[in-house]
Amino acid sequence: MDEKKKFEDLDCDVLDVGLCTSCGTCAGICPIDIIRMNYELDEPEPELIGECNACGLCYEICPGRDVPLRDLDRMIFERDRDVDREPLGIYKRSLRGYASRRDIRESSSSGGVVSALLNCALEEKIIDGALIAGWDEERPWRCKPMIASSPSEVAKPVRTAMVVVPINALLREVYKRNFEKIGVVGCPCHIHALRKMQMYNKPKKLVDSITFMIGLFCAANYYFKGTEHMIKELGKVDSVDEVICMDYRGGKWPGSLCVTTKDGETRYVASKHDYTWHFLGASSYKRDRCLMCVDWSAESADISAGDILTSIPEDNPRWTATLIRTEKGEELIETAINKGYVVAKDFDATVLTSSGLGWEAKKHANMYRLIQRKKYNWPTPSYQYTPRLVPKP
Ligand SMILES: Cc1cc2nc3c(=O)[nH]c(=O)nc-3n(C[C@H](O)[C@H](O)[C@H](O)COP(=O)(O)OP(=O)(O)OC[C@H]3O[C@@H](n4cnc5c(N)ncnc54)[C@H](O)[C@@H]3O)c2cc1C
Ligand code: SF4
Ligand code: SF4
Ligand code: SF4
Repeated sequence: MDEKKKFEDLDCDVLDVGLCTSCGTCAGICPIDIIRMNYELDEPEPELIGECNACGLCYEICPGRDVPLRDLDRMIFERDRDVDREPLGIYKRSLRGYASRRDIRESSSSGGVVSALLNCALEEKIIDGALIAGWDEERPWRCKPMIASSPSEVAKPVRTAMVVVPINALLREVYKRNFEKIGVVGCPCHIHALRKMQMYNKPKKLVDSITFMIGLFCAANYYFKGTEHMIKELGKVDSVDEVICMDYRGGKWPGSLCVTTKDGETRYVASKHDYTWHFLGASSYKRDRCLMCVDWSAESADISAGDILTSIPEDNPRWTATLIRTEKGEELIETAINKGYVVAKDFDATVLTSSGLGWEAKKHANMYRLIQRKKYNWPTPSYQYTPRLVPKP
């Protein structure tokens, strides 16, 4: 980048034109600590709280308008992907797995592989902290990023919260508290920012501390207003202030949005034990930036994890689809399997392109939306790959 940008440019080119993913990275890496994520708004947003010295870092790393997926492929995998034949990006191995600890598997979103990997990494001292999503104790209906430094903190994970969590904002704490080896779990946009940090090798100390990245498949995130509306309209709760506990995937897998209120009552929003709220209710509240995002399977992560929505001939439906993309990812999963944290079997991941709505939404609908937006000259992120509306392989 020739000319150094400042926060004002980020404001103008990303925030004000709806391209911010709320990943939190700018707040996590600003060298003079003058960006805060404002959590008081409906959606977490970066705001400037001091005088910018125009170092350009936040603008350079931000994944809001620029996601150089091809450059990232070359950096991570040392080759370009075959867009038509590698619909899930580049990976070495695909598995389906679950956490061997029953309590983790049963309290997880899918099969608990993500939490089991973190558990393993913390216990085996592969990392000294993990950046993950946690519940906000002061507002128990909202999520916040957290750093887990003990296995007990990851053993009961936030199950797939369909709201954006600015995980990368806590990179600042990683730096301040001198964590040396961290694992990060995030959506593809969190991973894009971390990979851009690696690509530009800055901030160096943080880049050196990132030991692995686990990416979650992500069809979209929803505006919190969607959750609030569903809680009030379908859950018949007067105000979110009544909520003392939330679970986006409560009950029988794959689960449903469920809230416990101050009167001690637990109620399911939409029909109990079903997934309809995701598709019927909240999906109408998809974040606008997510409608322009084309990475579903966290294509730049070391390991990517998602649901398996096709039927599996096993008694327990809780499995995690697990794509092992890099050597680091391979080392981690092998350690976790060999040491008994994870049980896994080989799995043909190509079924994932048709087993849910995520891949279709990202690779066809959103790709087409990018073409439309460009036609109207509307603000549009760049993913480097030219949209190709190829049918499913
Ligand atoms: C917003 C979102 C959309 C998703 N969309 C799809 C999809 O379309 N198709 C699909 O197959 N899978 C999707 N997933 C992934 C899936 O729901 C599971 O997270 C994944 O299968 C891992 O399951 P697990 O049981 O191994 O993870 P667990 O062991 O349950 O661990 C879950 C991890 O997810 C983290 N987490 C929860 N909510 C968030 C959040 N909002 N932002 C960042 N981190 C979070 C927690 O911190 C925890 O570390 C989505 C996940 C999220 C967060
Ligand atoms: S770095 Fe992330 S939070 Fe900051 S402006 Fe860019 S997309 Fe938004
Ligand atoms: S000092 Fe640098 S990182 Fe911080 S706001 Fe200004 S340009 Fe962004
Ligand atoms: S859809 Fe894309 S931009 Fe939205 S949360 Fe998921 S990865 Fe981030």
